[in-house]
Amino acid sequence: MEDRNAAERLAAVTGRIGAAAEAAGRDPSSVRLVAVSKLQPEARVAGALEAGHRLFGENRVQEAEGRWPAFRERFPDIRLHLIGGLQTNKVRAAVRLFDVIETVDRPRLAAALAREFERTGRALPCFVQVNTGDEAQKGGVAPSALDGFLDECRTGYGLDVVGLMCIPPAEDLPGPHFAFLREAARRNGLGGLSMGMSADFETAIRFGATHVRVGSAVFGARG
Ligand SMILES: *Cc1c(COP(=O)(O)O)cnc(C)c1O
Repeated sequence: MEDRNAAERLAAVTGRIGAAAEAAGRDPSSVRLVAVSKLQPEARVAGALEAGHRLFGENRVQEAEGRWPAFRERFPDIRLHLIGGLQTNKVRAAVRLFDVIETVDRPRLAAALAREFERTGRALPCFVQVNTGDEAQKGGVAPSALDGFLDECRTGYGLDVVGLMCIPPAEDLPGPHFAFLREAARRNGLGGLSMGMSADFETAIRFGATHVRVGSAVFGARG
C-alpha cells in the first residue's frame, strides 16, 4: 500500500525548494531533493516512489539493506545516498547498495572505499563530510584538516569527490556553517554542497546548496 499524502507533502516541499531557489536568483533545477526515508513506514516511501520521486537518503546501511533492494526491482532508476556515518566493516555492503557516499570523513574510510571501488569496478561519487561545528560526538573532518584531507582523498586514494556535506550544530544558526561550507567548496574546486534539512533547507539554498536532505517535511514525523 502507498500513502497518498506522500505525494502532497512531496509537492509542497518541491514547491518551497523552487521558491527558495528563485528568491536566491538560482535555477530550481540546480537544487536536488534527497528525500530522507530513515525510520519511515514503508507506505510513505512507496507513496513518494509512486509520485515519481527517485532520489533518497538513508543513514544506516543495515536499515537500507532491508528496504531498498525490493524497491529497486520495481523502480530501477532509484538513486540512493548514504548520509550517515560509515564503519569500515560496512563498506562492502554500502558500495553494493548506495549510489553516492556523502560521509567520507577519515583516511581509513577513504582507503577502504578506494579498495572496494577498485575490487568491484564500481566507483561511487563521494562527498566529504565536514564537522563545521567541531562537535566531539559528530562525524566529519575538522575544518582545520579539510583541505589536506581532500587532497589525500583525491590525489592519494583517487576518490571522485564531488562535494562537501555538513550538519550544523542544532543550537547554532545554520547560516555561518553553510557559508563556511560554500567557501571551502569554492576554494577546493568542488561543485556539490549537501546541506539543509527540514528546518533549514531554504536557508541552505540561499547559501548555495545543491542537495538538500529533507526527511520529516517530506514524510511526516519519524516513528
Ligand atoms: C535524518 C537526517 C536528515 C533529515 O532530517 P529532517 O530533519 O527529518 O529533515 C538529514 N541529514 C542527515 C544526515 C540525517 O541523519
